[in-house]
Amino acid sequence: VMRIDGICKKYGDHEVLNNISIDINKGDVIAVIGPSGCGKSTFIRMLNLLEKPTSGRIFFGNTELSSLNEKELTEIIPKIGMVFQQFNLFQNMMVKQNITLSPVLHKIYTEDEADAWAMNMLERVGLAQHAHKYPAQLSGGQQQRVAIIRTIAMKPSIVLFDEPTSALDPEMVNEVLNMMKELADEGMTMVVVTHEMKFAQNVSNRVLFFNNKGIQEQGSPDEIFNHPKNERLKEFLSQIE
Ligand code: ATP
Ligand code: MG
Repeated sequence: VMRIDGICKKYGDHEVLNNISIDINKGDVIAVIGPSGCGKSTFIRMLNLLEKPTSGRIFFGNTELSSLNEKELTEIIPKIGMVFQQFNLFQNMMVKQNITLSPVLHKIYTEDEADAWAMNMLERVGLAQHAHKYPAQLSGGQQQRVAIIRTIAMKPSIVLFDEPTSALDPEMVNEVLNMMKELADEGMTMVVVTHEMKFAQNVSNRVLFFNNKGIQEQGSPDEIFNHPKNERLKEFLSQIE
């Protein structure tokens, strides 16, 4: 789905990431873990060009993103969905409009189709009765589930999540993680920055440990959590558990 080829990121003189390369294949659920400030958000935001890499190449399918003009990017970037820690719903729009706005704008659905699709998805996650409320009238967990529906309404090829549960009260974390697990089970390609090690362990098929400007260790959840090799990774895991 995507190929990341030697990307680097500097803010001024400060090098945050150096030479990151990975392939993201269809159906991959990639968990990104690592200490605070190691560049996880910077990395995931580069995948949809919210941050521009200082060097290196990002391919979406066979298309290199930096070779595209503005108009081509506005068609491709919506195929790379993103879910944020702070939900980022449009506060001045009702829940259903939040979901239907972009797919109608991009002609993925007609207005009627978008309405029906949104109501069906809201029903599936038990939020249909909130369709005509504003985001501020919902709990954090409810807002984040709406944000996920809004993202997948664009029929993305991949969804990026940057700590989607860290702004939530503990009792709301699972309702969001369960929805993400369902998406994963349906075959959605996902990259998830997370501190939820159980989710990384049970749902992902590959874990990337970021530290010291790069991917310090990567492997299956079993390799990373049960047989870590890197000393810094061992220390990181012992601090969480
Ligand atoms: P956390 O787990 O706390 O979310 P992170 O791994 O997501 O951390 P980043 O937010 O990617 O880390 O930040 C990596 C480094 O880049 C930090 O040192 C941060 O101060 C720096 N940084 C991030 N964004 C900018 C920016 N816009 N300008 C300058 N420096 C930045
Ligand atoms: Mg971050």
